[in-house]
Formats: sequence, C-alpha cells, structure tokens
Amino acid sequence: MSEPSFDPSQALRDVQHFGEEGGVVPVIDVASTSTFLDPEDMVRTFHGERGCYLYSRHSNPSVNAFGRKLAALEQTEAALGVASGMSAIAAAILQLLPEGGHIVSSRTVYGGTYALFQNLLPRWGIQVTLVDFGDLAAVERAIGPKTRLLYTETMSNPLLSVTDLPAVARLAHARGLQLVVDNTFTPCLVTPARLGADVVVHSGTKYLSGASDLIAGVIAGPKAFVDQLVDINQGVVMLTGPVMDPRVAHELYLRLDHLPIRMQAHGRAAQLLAEALQAADVPVIYPGLSAHPHHALLGRLKNPGYGSGGMMAVDCGTADRAMQLARRLQDENFGLYAVSLGFSRTLMSCSSVTTSSEIPEAEQRSMNLSPGLLRLSIGYVGDDQVMANRFLRCYRALPKA
Ligand code: PLP
Repeated sequence: MSEPSFDPSQALRDVQHFGEEGGVVPVIDVASTSTFLDPEDMVRTFHGERGCYLYSRHSNPSVNAFGRKLAALEQTEAALGVASGMSAIAAAILQLLPEGGHIVSSRTVYGGTYALFQNLLPRWGIQVTLVDFGDLAAVERAIGPKTRLLYTETMSNPLLSVTDLPAVARLAHARGLQLVVDNTFTPCLVTPARLGADVVVHSGTKYLSGASDLIAGVIAGPKAFVDQLVDINQGVVMLTGPVMDPRVAHELYLRLDHLPIRMQAHGRAAQLLAEALQAADVPVIYPGLSAHPHHALLGRLKNPGYGSGGMMAVDCGTADRAMQLARRLQDENFGLYAVSLGFSRTLMSCSSVTTSSEIPEAEQRSMNLSPGLLRLSIGYVGDDQVMANRFLRCYRALPKA
C-alpha cells in the first residue's frame, strides 16, 4: 500500500545526471551506431556478455537518461521510452502474453486501446474480455485458464472513472496475473507501481510532453522486463522497432522536471472551473468534486499536493450540442477544439464521435458514454474566473436539449 508521503517532485530531483563536459543537462547522443575499438568486443556485446552501446534500436544514452528519470517518477526499477503511447501498450502486452493468451481489461479504455484489443490482438490469437473494473467480482469471473494479465487505466478516458488499483492488484497477484496500468491521465497524481501495478504505460504525447508537439510513449516496470523488451532475440521493441528518437527523449528529459508544477497548475485550474460549473448547474464530471462517484477513492490513491488532475467532461446530451458548445468556446478563446490532452491550453473534443468512435454505439451506451460528452483537458494559461465566465456564457447560449 502507498505511503502517503511519496513526493514525485523530490523523486525526480534525486536523479542526478551530468552532461558529457560537466553541463547541467546531458548531451543528446544522436548516434545510431557505436564504434568498437576491438572487433571481439562487438561479438561479445551481441552475445550479451558486455553491456555496451551497440545500435540505437537496442539502447541509446539519451533514451536511457529519460528512462531513469521516468522510472524515478513512476517508482519502478526501470523504464523505456518508445515511439508512442500505442506502441507502449502494444509492446508491453505482446511481451507479456504467450500466443493465445487472454487479457481481462477495463471496458472504459481509450478508443485506440479498445480497437487494438478488439481488432488486432485477436489476429495473434489473443483474446480480450472487457469488464467493468468497478465490479471486482465480475473481473474475477472473467479470469480463465489462459488469462495472463489485467489491464486498466488509472483514470479512464473519457469517463474519468478511477480504478481501485490496490484491490485490482491484490486480485491479479492472488491469481498469478500481472497488472498493467495506463497512467496517461494521472502522472504525479497517482503512482500505480506503489499501489501494486507491475507494469505502467504512458502516452508521453500528453502530460509528459505538455506542449502538444511530439508523439511518445513509455513502458515502466521491473528491470528484467524492460531488458526483455530490447532483447536481441525476443524483445518486442527491439524486433518490431517502435523506438524513441534521442531528440524526443532529451526534450522529455528536460520537461519532466517541471511536470509536477504543471500537474499542480492543471489540477488547480480544473478544480476551480469544475466548482464554478457545478455551482451553475452545468452537468460537469470531475473527480475533484465530492459528487463524483470516485472522489473518495481517488483521495485514497493520490499523492498529496497534486489536486485531482486536469481532465473534465461536460455532458451536453447530444453530439450536436457538444459540438455547438465547443465551436462557441473556441470562438470565445476558451480553448481549442482538438483531440489529445495535457497541453498548457484547454483542448476540447466530443469523445463519442472522435477519440472513442472506435467503440461501437451499443458498447458506448452500455458503458454510459453519453453521445454528448464534451471532454476537456483543462489548461492553466489564463485567468480562472475569466475562463469560467466564458464557459458559462457559451453554455447558457446553447439551445435547450
Ligand atoms: N492511452 C491513453 C489514455 C490515451 O488517451 C492515448 C491517446 O489519446 C493513448 C494511450 C495513445 O497514445 P499515443 O497517441 O501517444 O499513441
């Protein structure tokens, strides 16, 4: 169970790394291949007898420096930067599962993850059963002889339901399974490995980047597992190749230091806006509000000082109303109508017809995903009161449902 005192900011601070010539940041090592003074050493490296840099798809100093910082943030033994959040999810799962394996996954996952689970993994004989992770008995019932792992998001996209990670981890471990958690929505806020997760994945495109200017992913977990991912003969990342570019790794390495400050700023702005919307009877969904069904659960899981995150949703009833509202909000310069999240400015999208459109309508209904859900990634730029007033002006101007 988590000790309440964990401070992600201090954990990042404690990673010390000097640049090549004593600089305060490491240099970017862009070399795709490394020289060996003795050709015999290259042979030994290929046989795993020497831990040298060899070829950048296998290992790269800048990607490793980022990995060390990320591992400190997520409190895992090791972490590997990869090309995108989707490649992190796919590679972690393919590495963990044998052919014909089975996954029990939360049904409220990002649409791309849903499509991977439903459309692609079955081609390799991997089956995924989707269950409501709020119902642990149902999760347990879905576990079968071929099940190897449980999969969930700490805070789900886009419904913002929170998984009881310690309870799910206990169940996974009692049944000899691994727990894989997507922590994209809640870096700093929640540290899944401290709550029992075995492997943590991220879309680094989101909060880790913070600037909506790159695509990246992360797989964090035990060192033996991270080493396996780049094994020359068996590694899914090594052999399918979705590596992180060292320039991207360097950018993210620098940005991790201010991630805690950014997460606090997102959480503060989102909390103030959610309270203003709730007071005005706007149907707002935000885990920082006591009315949210998982408010108390999040309170038990989260590290102190980071609020309740930057993600919010407003149920406008229909997709048409959600898009009308978004258009007005963009015209009023409240935010930008764009998918993705974690940017300094507010991003908005209507989930049912965009980032969750891979999920069939009937399934969307059964998971309570309203067609009119406007998902908001709340930015921290701007005056909170001005932003709340802009939102309310636009919302009140909407035609009645
Ligand atoms: N996981 C979550 C929760 C996401 O929201 C996304 C993208 O929106 C992804 C994974 C995929 O990340 P990427 O776009 O970096 O591949």
